[in-house]
Amino acid sequence: MNSNHKQQKAYPELIRRLHEIHTLRGISAVVGWDEQVSMPPKGNEARAKHSALLATLEHDRQTDPALGECLKACANDGKLSPVQQALVREARRDYDKATKIPGELVREISELSVKAHAVWVEARKKNDFPSFAPLLSRLVSLRKQEAAALGYPKGGVPYDALLDQFEPGATVREIDPIFTRTREITIAALRGIGKSGRKPDVSILKRRFPIEAQEKFSRLLLDVLHYDQQAGRLERSVHPFTTGIGIQDVRITTRYEERWLPGGLFGTIHETGHALYEQALPLAYAGTPLAEALSMGFHESQSRFWENQVGRSLPFWKFLFPRLKRFFPEALARVGLDDFYAAINAVRPSVIRVEADEVTYNLHIIVRYELEKALFANDLSVKDLPAAWNSKMKDYLGVVPRNDAEGVLQDIHWSSGSFGYFPTYLLGNLYAAQWMATLRKDFPDLDKRLARGDFLTVKKWLNEKIHRHGRRYPAAELCRRVSGETLNPEHFAKYLKTKFELSDF
Ligand code: ZN
Repeated sequence: MNSNHKQQKAYPELIRRLHEIHTLRGISAVVGWDEQVSMPPKGNEARAKHSALLATLEHDRQTDPALGECLKACANDGKLSPVQQALVREARRDYDKATKIPGELVREISELSVKAHAVWVEARKKNDFPSFAPLLSRLVSLRKQEAAALGYPKGGVPYDALLDQFEPGATVREIDPIFTRTREITIAALRGIGKSGRKPDVSILKRRFPIEAQEKFSRLLLDVLHYDQQAGRLERSVHPFTTGIGIQDVRITTRYEERWLPGGLFGTIHETGHALYEQALPLAYAGTPLAEALSMGFHESQSRFWENQVGRSLPFWKFLFPRLKRFFPEALARVGLDDFYAAINAVRPSVIRVEADEVTYNLHIIVRYELEKALFANDLSVKDLPAAWNSKMKDYLGVVPRNDAEGVLQDIHWSSGSFGYFPTYLLGNLYAAQWMATLRKDFPDLDKRLARGDFLTVKKWLNEKIHRHGRRYPAAELCRRVSGETLNPEHFAKYLKTKFELSDF
């Protein structure tokens, strides 16, 4: 067989192999969905075996040397179109990531994560950081080995390798100035809001909101936001999430609290934002990396966009508030739109990240980012983590956790050795503000459209500008294609200034 012929066969062979990996991942997703949504408690043991076998099968295929050969042949195939070349580039990226980490290290991290997670659950319950600390230290040290195996750009730091797993191409050098500026913006905004004397009555959101009515309203939201219910479903789970089993099967979960309306309400809008992205990935490339979301930051930019930029805006509620009142005639009987809008936009520093408002949320992320960076630069040891946590919370948010359970132990991420993930939440918030600024330029009458319930304009714009490209372009390039510039925190600053009528920063 001459080399030309080999190349011609290589691309279809690559696609076949990628489809197989994708199919295994889809099966894992179904199994994972079942585990979190409908599996009975005693199913745990068998389920662990199902998941472990699927993970092994997937890893074997991802690291198959024949896949490496196939990628090599494709790289030399001059006849591929630019899109096909992008597909090969992204498949190569995945292959390199999967093969660079020694199998022994992968196993060690995965085993320790399961153990550490269980210890963390107990440690958080008993407010006992010292019992979790040795496992966390070990996880940090294994992730350092992983970073060394993955490598990072010249002049960079090991933490870059971890960032890159969630936000391809992101480096400390690039995001440091963005985070510093966001910290300044947020602290200034917080000061301004404090001085403004705003005192929204949040208690109206803590009245009795029957769960069945909340669920019905969530389903109405799905329709209003053009989530394709023929290609997904909504269920309840302890931790809300979105899972893409395939482009035409994107499921979401939410959770409701009878005495806290925003939990289920904004949880549903948030996950719908994620799902709209997954449902609009390029179907023609289904089963390949090109039909995957670009990064966690981009993913979060979609959920935050719908949750905050749209879902916490006045025009959105001009349209929906009369409908909401019909679902909750008792609780909202004498509540006006302005009071409701003020309540869902109340800003108050607090110690728990997942309960934070859209202004203080970024400060929670900055605390975690700075601590992770210090851990991986050997500037901070795990035993000093609680003190460092509390001191940053005091400096940035002006609040100090009463104990480690509501401080350094509050998040699940570190318990499973996930480092480098938190920053993507902040990037998502900034991207979302940048998308909205651009969308407003394209549609100067946007608020009017939203107020009459036209959310299709927004959805189609996101489909066209972001979703349909999948992983075709690197993040910085897609950001430039969408908005004419790379990520710029000033859009977020302007958003806060306008929304909260602030002038002094
Ligand atoms: Zn999210």
